[in-house]
Amino acid sequence: MSFDSLGLAPALLSSIERTGFTTPTPVQMSAIPAALAGADLMVSAQTGSGKTAAFMLPALNRIAHKPANKGRGVQVLVLTPTRELALQVSEATEMYGSNLDDLRVATVVGGMPYGAQLKALSRRVDVLVATPGRLLDHLQARRVDLSTVHTLVLDEADRMLDMGFIDDINTIVDRCPESRQTLLFSATLDGTVAKLAARMMRDPQRIEM
Ligand code: AMP
Repeated sequence: MSFDSLGLAPALLSSIERTGFTTPTPVQMSAIPAALAGADLMVSAQTGSGKTAAFMLPALNRIAHKPANKGRGVQVLVLTPTRELALQVSEATEMYGSNLDDLRVATVVGGMPYGAQLKALSRRVDVLVATPGRLLDHLQARRVDLSTVHTLVLDEADRMLDMGFIDDINTIVDRCPESRQTLLFSATLDGTVAKLAARMMRDPQRIEM
């Protein structure tokens, strides 16, 4: 199977090719078509499985098909447990989105100075990658608006819950439109992750790798 058969926009296929990926990984083969069809997804996937592209390619596909939405606010929000993971996701997003006209990616994470983040948030942002605590700070100070988000991603949801981010996550999710698509990735899908999903997802499709 090749990336060509997954239903992605040509601008994304050419950046995938340039990145050097030839075959989708198993999680990409399952999750990309399901996400493109519009489903909410709960996916069990480990680090190294190619999960970042599995959520980011469908999210960027919407941006590729609706260029007129640029400048109307944050379209894709990705929550991650750690600064390091957020930076990796942002870097991958820049790579996968390199053929989308002037895609703006902002990273908002704890443990980093506010200055650069304030500057980034004062400009146009298409994709926002954030850790929950720092994003909540910016939300409460009204420096960011999530009312235009069409795709919400929870990356490593189990780790975010282990780190005690449940209340922050709930507050952030409540600021996103109900009509959004939600993609949850986690090493496990049971227990507290299942509870979180029940609260914030609509009839999610489970993909277990
Ligand atoms: P991730 O699980 O998203 O952290 O990805 C792990 C690594 O696999 C990253 O270095 C990606 O660049 C790489 N990767 C993701 N998808 C593919 C693919 N389809 N073919 C080859 N490498 C990939």
